[in-house]
Order: sequence, then C-alpha cells, then structure tokens
Amino acid sequence: MGRVFVAGSINMDVVATADRHPRVGETVAGRQVLYFPGGKGANQAVAASRLGAKTTLIGRLGKDAFGAELRTFLGDQGIDLGSVREADTHTGTAIITVAASDNTIVVVPGSNALVGADDVAGVRLTKGDVAVSQFEIPLPTIAAFFQRARSAGATTLLNPAPAQQMPGELLALVDILVLNETELGFLAGSEVSDSDEAAKIIAVARQLQAREDQTICITLGKRGVLALAGREEFAVPGRVVTAVDATGAGDCFVGALASQLADDVPLRAALAFANAAASISVQRMGAGPSMPTAAEVAAVLG
Ligand code: ATP
Repeated sequence: MGRVFVAGSINMDVVATADRHPRVGETVAGRQVLYFPGGKGANQAVAASRLGAKTTLIGRLGKDAFGAELRTFLGDQGIDLGSVREADTHTGTAIITVAASDNTIVVVPGSNALVGADDVAGVRLTKGDVAVSQFEIPLPTIAAFFQRARSAGATTLLNPAPAQQMPGELLALVDILVLNETELGFLAGSEVSDSDEAAKIIAVARQLQAREDQTICITLGKRGVLALAGREEFAVPGRVVTAVDATGAGDCFVGALASQLADDVPLRAALAFANAAASISVQRMGAGPSMPTAAEVAAVLG
C-alpha cells in the first residue's frame, strides 16, 4: 500500500456569528466565536488519514497558539507531521463572519505563503505513493513537489483551488486533475455550469487536457462527478442525500480519492468511493469534523 503525501495549506478558521453583518466602519455585537481547523491541504490530509491511508502532510505553521493547536489536532488524526515546519510569521488564518446564513471571509495565508521548494526537497516518495496539492501554497513549490514525485514513480493529483492561472509546465506534471465546474471554466477559458450536458463539460475538459494519459475529474456537487481518463470518459452519479453543509465536500472527495489510489484501487472504483465519502461529508457540519471513516463509506457502498 502506498502513502499519501499532501503538500498544502493549514489554517485556523475563526468564525464569528452575529444577527447581521456590520456595515463598513460599524461595530455589531456577535453571538459566538468558533475555531475550526481548516486549509485545503490539512482538510484533504485529514480525509485521507481518517479513511485509513498512511498520510504525510508537508506545510508550515506559525510560532503561535493556532500553530500549536493545529499541530495537536492534526497529530491526533494520525497524520505524519515530520514535514510540517515552523515559519517566522503567523499561522494561516481565515476570519469568517456568519450572519443570516451569509458569510464574509478574509483569508490571510501567513505561514502557508512560506511553504517552499526546500520543504518538499527532503520528502521521500516511492512508486505507488500519491502526491496531492492545491493552490493555497506557492505554485513553484507544487511544481518542485510534483517533479520529485514523478521521478520517484508516484502519482500526482492536483486540486487547482482556489482557481488561478497556472503555467503549462505545472499542468504537464499532473497525472490527475480534480476540479469543480467553475475551476474548469476558469482554467479552460470557457463558461461551464454544473447543469451543462456531460458532453459539453467533457469537451471543455478535453481542451484543458495537457497529456494524452492525463485524467481530469470534474466534481459537480449533487450531480456527482464526470471523468475524462485519457480518451475514455464516464460519469459517477451523485448519491441522493440530504445535504446540510457542503463545506469541505471537495476536500473530502480529493482526500478520499488519494486514499484509494494509494491502495491501488482502479480509477472508477476509487471515484465511486470518493463520491460516497463526499456524500457523507455534506450531511454533517464543518470541514474537518465531517470527514467519514472507511467503515462509514463501506456501509454506504454496501
Ligand atoms: P467545496 O468548495 O464546497 O468543497 P466543490 O465545489 O469543490 O465544493 P462539489 O462539486 O460541490 O465540490 O462537491 C464535491 C463532491 O461532493 C461531489 O462530486 C459529490 O461527490 C459530493 N457532493 C457534493 N454535494 C453533494 C450533494 N448535495 N449530494 C451528494 N453528494 C454531494
């Protein structure tokens, strides 16, 4: 069984709830302050580890109380944190206000912006491992990580979120791209909606495909996922559930997919597993706490 290596962001999400949002320059009294471990890298590592994959996280934490708390939380999830170093700045932090079911978010990358090529240089990947990253750390670091992974015979999996333009050389290093319809539209330079016909979405994915053997998986919320694997295309329909909070559904999907690929599960079955895992996560609040266990996914798949 291979390992999952995730190079990515680690954040503390600080959520203040209030009856209404303040106007600019105004102060309002809030109701509650909640702290949630977050960051796409950390969320995806939690998902993979909870699903049974041996998981290593590569990232940076600040020398502050959030850094210490996140290290304890992630360690408790069974994640190897030997490659999470300290940075001379604050831990990545998202300041979120929630009022009347709307939110505002300010994310300050802090330590995540300092994850550099030196952080991935010492990582020992081997054939069968899966190297995962997202767009909340510098892109040159991801390229260095994927180059290392590919030369070791590992599979590279990129979740290009939040969307930003990427150099063609980085895309060419990706074996499996997992993105939602908005990210696909942005990267391919075409309008894509999650209600578009599968054939149209696949056609846009084909424009983006950088190598003949590259796999592109487009997650479509409750509609499930479409995949373009080399020349082959197929759909995994969404599972019918009552969703209460989609936060982290994409991260659950990516972590779950990586856990299966590291276990040598074929792509179709791995996508069906990830689709089932993510359908469980949307039935629970939060990101980290909503990630299911392998037994829970097995029970859904029957
Ligand atoms: P987020 O940014 O909120 O994490 P995303 O846009 O990256 O989400 P989605 O496409 O919304 O990702 O969801 C990822 C996967 O989660 C879907 O492909 C599907 O497997 C599952 N999923 C999401 N929403 C639902 C839902 N309402 N019902 C069932 N499964 C869902």
